[in-house]
Amino acid sequence: MKVVTLQNKREYSILRRHPWIFSGAVATVEGDPCAGDTVQVKAADGTLLGMGAYSPESQIRVRLWTFEASEIDTTFINSRIAQAISGRSIFLAEGATNAFRLVNAEADGIPGLIADRYGEWIVCQFTTAGAERWKKEIVEALQRYSPCKGVYERSDLDVRTREGLPPLMGVLAGEAPPERIEIVENGTRYYVDVLQGHKTGFYLDQRDNRAMVKRYANGLDVLNAFSYTGGFGVAAVTSAAASVTHVDLSEPSLALARENTALNTCHVEESTFICGNVFEVLRSFRDAAKTFDMIILDPPKFADSKGSLMKAARGYKDINLLAMKLLRPGGLLATFSCSGLMTSDLFDKVVSDAAVDAKRDFQVLKRLQQAEDHPEGLCFPEGLYLKGLFCRVM
Ligand code: SAH
Repeated sequence: MKVVTLQNKREYSILRRHPWIFSGAVATVEGDPCAGDTVQVKAADGTLLGMGAYSPESQIRVRLWTFEASEIDTTFINSRIAQAISGRSIFLAEGATNAFRLVNAEADGIPGLIADRYGEWIVCQFTTAGAERWKKEIVEALQRYSPCKGVYERSDLDVRTREGLPPLMGVLAGEAPPERIEIVENGTRYYVDVLQGHKTGFYLDQRDNRAMVKRYANGLDVLNAFSYTGGFGVAAVTSAAASVTHVDLSEPSLALARENTALNTCHVEESTFICGNVFEVLRSFRDAAKTFDMIILDPPKFADSKGSLMKAARGYKDINLLAMKLLRPGGLLATFSCSGLMTSDLFDKVVSDAAVDAKRDFQVLKRLQQAEDHPEGLCFPEGLYLKGLFCRVM
């Protein structure tokens, strides 16, 4: 049997049902497990704590599959996938959205697996040795419980190198997806490039927040900063925003934003697409005394290590301060951070500091987070990465 025994008194987090064991907590490893092998996890006194996937190259040496003495086999994988997918049946029942996350890693009891459904296709990321080990069984289970035309892999992520895994992309089952998959999200249509787009192709986690922007956008001049392929701005267009200005560094993303606008309306002339750095574009708007009724700030992850957190906080404060100054009285700001390291408290502080410097009063209409198909484990706070504030300036 393969067994990982913890150092004395290092079982606390596992008893709290947190699934990660860091290398420093490990006392001994028996049975010579390979990457992805299932190991029993024991406390220093020999008590069995659960079963996990071994990852010899990662700082997270073991990720627990379960806190019981279960067998980890095809039946186990099947039941976890079936449970995850049945939890998303409301999306199929409602029919308003045909792109949603089927499996969200730790929160669904399958560390290292992301599986997103885009229309008739499933796009997956395998980020850990444990998920990689069970890839074949996972792909079969996904097809069984969420029948599709094909399963495509987008494991082209940097985090895989920390697990000693190479980047991989390609068809895992069925047909290859087309270059663009057309999806519908709460009545808004988007083309998604699952072959080359960010993540698995689209920021599905922002669905509810896009719906909220859509509720308010009627008649407003909207600035969609960090637009990617249009996301928020196209949703605003579909509820008759007066104008939408998209800003992104990426020309190909803006090209798709333009197509997504045309897909939803014939009034493409009310949308503007600016290829540039948001920090500079916001300054140029300030200098030109340009103002907006609604601003969305959805930047990429500014912090990816604890060391970069304070620099990231300054970046968030800068863009929020600049945006706040561009808002007309009564204007709305939807501001986000997708850095897991940026806690809600710190984000509140950064945004309120920006309001102080802007010398403007804001009310928070709503606190925002990732959509419900991206659940966080109750005992796994790392799972809440996206947070946002929807504010109105007085
Ligand atoms: N809101 C989008 C997702 C945004 S992802 C949606 O709902 O789909 C973040 C985007 O920010 C990426 O498209 C990236 O190209 C862009 N980006 C990153 N840094 C930038 C910068 N300094 N200025 C402008 N765009 C930037």
